[in-house]
Amino acid sequence: MKRIYLDHNATTPLRPEVLAAMMPYLTGEYGNASSIHAFGQNARGAVEQARLQVARLIGAREAEIMFTSGGTESDNYAILGAVAAAPGKTKHVITSAIEHVAALDPCRALAKQGIELTILPVDRNGLVSPEDVGGAIRPETALVTIMLANNEIGTIEPIAEIGKIAEEKGIVFHTDAVQAAGKVPIDVEKLGVDLLSISAHKFCGPKGVGALYIRKGTRLEPLLYGGHSERDRRPGTEDVAAIAGMGKAAELALAEMGGESERIRRLRDRLEQGLLERVPHAWVNSASAPRVPNTANLTFPFIEGESMVIALDLKGIACSTGAACSSGALEPSHVLLALGLAPEDARATLRLSLGHQTTSDEIDFALETIPPVIERLRRLSPTAYKIA
Ligand code: PLP
Repeated sequence: MKRIYLDHNATTPLRPEVLAAMMPYLTGEYGNASSIHAFGQNARGAVEQARLQVARLIGAREAEIMFTSGGTESDNYAILGAVAAAPGKTKHVITSAIEHVAALDPCRALAKQGIELTILPVDRNGLVSPEDVGGAIRPETALVTIMLANNEIGTIEPIAEIGKIAEEKGIVFHTDAVQAAGKVPIDVEKLGVDLLSISAHKFCGPKGVGALYIRKGTRLEPLLYGGHSERDRRPGTEDVAAIAGMGKAAELALAEMGGESERIRRLRDRLEQGLLERVPHAWVNSASAPRVPNTANLTFPFIEGESMVIALDLKGIACSTGAACSSGALEPSHVLLALGLAPEDARATLRLSLGHQTTSDEIDFALETIPPVIERLRRLSPTAYKIA
């Protein structure tokens, strides 16, 4: 059966060039990057080359890149580390209602420990207002954390404007750029961020490796203790192969960014347009907001996203829905609810995310396959009688 993968925001396939860059460190070059002999120094060389490649992807200096185990760790390190390092007893954190749980949950954990937390709303398009951020800042604000691109709807938040406000008020500013890295140009100077998280497996690198950009001079308490790796900031023997793979993936993403983004944007727009033309009562969420080029988020009222995902999987299309199974119940996505969608509409939502391997033929296949599946599910749906 033909199978197509339209779930690149969940993860991406490893590119062959990335695997080739990793292979030496999974085989003959097995040294520990902290050892002073030749084996160790070869491993160290690979880690430092990757640091340069990752720094270039986001316009940073090498010394400002700390490798981590992925986006979740980078977000936790930034949020927990910056708040722990902030002076004073009363501390306050500002975030938004559409953050990934990798950022929201550490904020909520801090709130349980007595840190004051402001969760800012977003507009109908999923955008945070910089004025709201400015208005929420207090003398005791220790951190602002707002994501650069949303993983469900793809919106690009006004990070540079928020960065200016945070800088003027001297507040540490973190952004989760996990869904932006490799898809849109990133320049930490233009964004005015102090901390920025990325994850390799979202841009055709390996899973389980990421990076945190730490602007020179930003105070951060370590989360882990036990060694001197990563400039004493993150102990533990480096996963040299994964780091080398992340470096190669960053280099490729940067080199191909312009043309590849445009190609993917055209395919995404054709997919959205085609589905809107073929499926009545459907809409694209955040359609008029600035968005990463690969993400389409559409609501097809009167059906359950989960049944759509299962039915499409049986037809050979991998995608995801705007609901997550938690404690046995299908919870509508907090992101879609924050946009103002009704819970039943949030549950009737599909996320289709394209990537480097997506072809025009695959979009044709998706346009042939998805509409009849939705029509069939609607015929079976007890709520579809509402369709005029
Ligand atoms: N932040 C965002 C916006 C994400 O989309 C993800 C992954 O889906 C993460 C953080 C977590 O990254 P990782 O899977 O590398 O832990």
